[in-house]
Amino acid sequence: MVVNNLAAYAAHPEKSKGRIHKNDEDSYRNQYQRDRDRIIHSSAFRRLEYKTQVFVNHEGDMFRTRLTHSIEVSQIGRTIARALNVNEDLTEAICLAHDLGHTPFGHAGQDALNACMKEFGGFEHNLQSIRIVDLLEQRYASFPGLNLTFETREGIIKHCSKNNASNLGELGERFINGEKPGIEAQIANIADEIAYNNHDIDDGLRAGLLDIEALRNCNLFNIYYEKVKTKWSNLTDDRLRHEIIRKMINCVVSDLIKNSEETINLIKPANIEQVRKCGKSLIIMSDSIIIMHKALKKYLRLNLYQHERVMSMSNKAKEIVRFLFNAYLEDKNLLTKELQFAISETKGAKNGNEVTRIVADYIAGMTDRFAFSEAERIKNNS
Ligand code: MG
Repeated sequence: MVVNNLAAYAAHPEKSKGRIHKNDEDSYRNQYQRDRDRIIHSSAFRRLEYKTQVFVNHEGDMFRTRLTHSIEVSQIGRTIARALNVNEDLTEAICLAHDLGHTPFGHAGQDALNACMKEFGGFEHNLQSIRIVDLLEQRYASFPGLNLTFETREGIIKHCSKNNASNLGELGERFINGEKPGIEAQIANIADEIAYNNHDIDDGLRAGLLDIEALRNCNLFNIYYEKVKTKWSNLTDDRLRHEIIRKMINCVVSDLIKNSEETINLIKPANIEQVRKCGKSLIIMSDSIIIMHKALKKYLRLNLYQHERVMSMSNKAKEIVRFLFNAYLEDKNLLTKELQFAISETKGAKNGNEVTRIVADYIAGMTDRFAFSEAERIKNNS
């Protein structure tokens, strides 16, 4: 199915590199719309609702979760895609799927699971997202996974070491050859950064972990703080915060669209292959905004992600992941009947690796609260 008026360098669904398993055409939806819908109906997508973004899910109802984060990424990504006349459906699919592979408890959970899996190939959330959409989702009678198009999978795998890339076939080639993904994947990548930089300020201020006066040391924040204060001097904290953040998102997104348009016009790629091979990102902010955006990111790292309250929760989260990993490996009867059966089916020299991977997949798929209650259940029964 053709999408009208797309730029030549966009991903055109009728020219997709296709799916691993053959699928019939759909009467109403193009390939990327189907990918998006498959992601929305997946179990992994639903579980994002109860997974940590920065704040552990039970810390408050108002904070972002992985699900609301993914929806905000998708909103920003779609705006950029539409403005640049590239494929909005594909951008949306990638944005919604980009965090599917995250463990419970955010980056702390990933770090702990990666350490547990050190001898067995490690754990990385981008690779896990691909495992989920290629293998772990069980929704179709005739194939494992969601059987997504190459372009959606290309966008989901944002980073990858050369070592891991060599196991990914065509999907891994760009990491070995130093190529870029299509424009829609580049948009999803930057939309992710824009979303978390801004919503983490909102959540950090709301939680009382960040201070509005101290944040004024960041140029981008201060520019809009002063503009808003000059126009409305008596705003409540909530309205002041939201007005500043809204204006910051608008500034960064507008700059990104304008600068990317100029970059694309210079390179003039004739199709998606030329986008992949042109050697540089085409979706890029202007130099001055890059500097201010990076400064904001650094500020958040030092003052929010490394805040003692966030760190103390991270340490507890790591303990839970380590505890679960060791407990399951020690006593397979603690696992579900399906997983016990899957383990009994593993054979051969790689048996140890296969078993640990089954356990890692299980833990990675857990929501925060399920991981908590599972650790409690095991402790209380031992
Ligand atoms: Mg993200």
